[in-house]
Amino acid sequence: MEDFTFNNPTKIIFGKGREREVGKEASAYGKNILLHYGGGSIKKSGLYDRIVASLKEAGLTVFELSGVKPNPRLSLVRKGIDLCHKENIDLILAVGGGSVIDSAKAIAVGYYYKGDVWDLYTGKGSADKALPVATVLTIPAAGSESSTGSVITKEEGNFKRPFDHEVLYPVFSILNPELAYTLPDFQVACGIADMTAHLLERYFTNAKPVGLTDRLIEGALKNIMEYAPVVLSDRKNYDGWAEIMWSGTFAHNNSLNTGRIGDWASHDIEHELSGIYDIAHGAGLAVIFPAWMKYNYKHDIKLFAQWAVRVMNVEQKFRSDEETVLAGIAAFEQFLESLGLAVRLDGVGIDESRLEEMADKATNGDTTTVGNFVKLKKSDVYNVLKLAL
Ligand code: NAP
Ligand code: FE
Repeated sequence: MEDFTFNNPTKIIFGKGREREVGKEASAYGKNILLHYGGGSIKKSGLYDRIVASLKEAGLTVFELSGVKPNPRLSLVRKGIDLCHKENIDLILAVGGGSVIDSAKAIAVGYYYKGDVWDLYTGKGSADKALPVATVLTIPAAGSESSTGSVITKEEGNFKRPFDHEVLYPVFSILNPELAYTLPDFQVACGIADMTAHLLERYFTNAKPVGLTDRLIEGALKNIMEYAPVVLSDRKNYDGWAEIMWSGTFAHNNSLNTGRIGDWASHDIEHELSGIYDIAHGAGLAVIFPAWMKYNYKHDIKLFAQWAVRVMNVEQKFRSDEETVLAGIAAFEQFLESLGLAVRLDGVGIDESRLEEMADKATNGDTTTVGNFVKLKKSDVYNVLKLAL
């Protein structure tokens, strides 16, 4: 097991109707709240009214910045930073999914950063402070409600890049599974693909032995696979959503990479897809992850066989390790397809024309690698993308 320090400070407030407590919770951080949200789903569902009422009841002053797009953009982040300075914002409240939360985090850390906030996303700058961010989650998916990550897209050049730092842990996150009832099928499926990918990125590690987290990740994957069809077919199934929502948070709150180093190549490669083609992150992962598996399983065939048997329920009797792994990957693709997702690039509208460009961007012009389980050079990334065709 690798050494680790684990300190996730995000307070989780979980359950029916708990967004009504947002005013009381937020008031601990000051008076001026920036309410940050997306394209309007929270207005349609009535959530917006409940949030504003709770904040006002607590005597807070509410400023607003809406219009966060999926694959959140740098230009809105810059606007948010200016607004926070102008209005002396004490807390940014993100109401939405990963995109809104990541945008809020970028504003929060950019608020104190002396230079251009984009420096943080290119590794040119570092941060030691951020405004407090709190969240009310409306889609179980990214896990950003309790993570150190933020992923932003710079419009010029379509660069989608992550920044990770402990100052980005939200101070509290309200998780009411009922808020997921209004999600369309496609977003449900994308969310499930993303949380599944967060678990798999952590699972494929070179750290050994890591028995506890192996078992916890396997359990979380099996739980998601059990409840995904439940929430897809019965959108108002509270218990199903409670399982999916908490699994999505737990998948990415760093409990499950204690003692192990995750891979993250599939995420880095996917960011080129959603950066250039503006597709949903989960839809991109459903295409990239199986291809990454096919390209890399030989690096540790025993670990892949363990996953295939324990998670994908492949019967190993009479099968070689390789046959077991390939059956596991096929079963994983079937699971993704059962959610209604494509597992090949053409299914997300991407052809062969820009694969080389994506491989080049992912590796900064072939000067860096992606992934930790196996370090992939530009030519490897290109081969993974070819396998996804
Ligand atoms: P999202 O991009 O935040 O939201 C996707 C869509 O779902 C939006 O159009 C949104 O509409 C809609 N929506 C959200 N909640 C809804 C609800 N309850 N009812 C109806 N529609 C709803 O989705 P996401 O998958 O959570 O976030 C994806 C982003 O997170 C990507 O950019 C990805 O790279 C990033 N990510 C971040 C981390 C991290 O740790 N920071 C990890 C993985 C991925 P409205 O805009 O109208 O609300
Ligand atoms: Fe993700």
